[in-house]
Amino acid sequence: MITRDLDFFLDDGRKEMPSGVSAKEVRCKVALPLSNLPGLDLALNPYVGCEHGCVYCFAPDVLKRDRSDWATRVDYRANLPVGLSRELKTKRGVIGIGTVTDPYQPLEGVLLLTRKCLMEISRHDNPISILTKSDLVLRDLELIIATRRPEVGITVTCTDEGLAKRIEPGAPSPRRRIAALGELSQVGVNSYVMIGPVLPFLEDHDLSALLMEVKAVGCERVMVDRLRPRPGLDEALLGAKVLRTTSCLTDFAQMGRQARYIRDECVRLGLRFESAF
Ligand code: SF4
Repeated sequence: MITRDLDFFLDDGRKEMPSGVSAKEVRCKVALPLSNLPGLDLALNPYVGCEHGCVYCFAPDVLKRDRSDWATRVDYRANLPVGLSRELKTKRGVIGIGTVTDPYQPLEGVLLLTRKCLMEISRHDNPISILTKSDLVLRDLELIIATRRPEVGITVTCTDEGLAKRIEPGAPSPRRRIAALGELSQVGVNSYVMIGPVLPFLEDHDLSALLMEVKAVGCERVMVDRLRPRPGLDEALLGAKVLRTTSCLTDFAQMGRQARYIRDECVRLGLRFESAF
């Protein structure tokens, strides 16, 4: 069901959403390409572009897309559920949902494209692994539970609401994301917090506070990933008033030290630690 929210067509076939984002229907040839990420066999990405607009996002570089409109011009692969239905007859393995862009960005609240894909997957035997930065994933909890061996990761990089707003301006607050981890844990979904990227300017006590909040809601798995410096990242962080100096962005020794700190804290708190560094 496409709601009347999409009845605002721009000249080039894009549709302007009330949020100001312009969305365009595109068609994909392959619904489930192979994934080269550890633990995943196939990749599913309903959207190209991401309204969350994280300053550290490296997906535009991977896709060779202009970063300036990454968060405001989002393409959606409307034929994905049909392609999935066809390809799932022969393709086996773990499906990573959201390996490039967030499958639960605000547009999904209107288009329900990820939801339609889950409906197809739940009729088959493929395990799924979702990664998102949004509590909108809870909307599809029944469908997620209906799939084989579901796993859901929710990214939380800090607990400071103001900092999160500056670096992940379109994403739900850390408080909402951590609460979502709690709900997933309560219903027994294999879930984890993705602290990725580990922000090199955070202090140990910031990281410790995040781990304790995650533990308090019942989440028992922690995954970390490193920051991938990209051209323009330092200016973006300076512009967001996150940094005074950029020297830490390429300080890989500091990133390694933070990962070890998180690992040790996980041991102390009884959390399972995994690294995607
Ligand atoms: S949620 Fe992920 S894909 Fe979206 S902008 Fe942030 S880092 Fe990029």
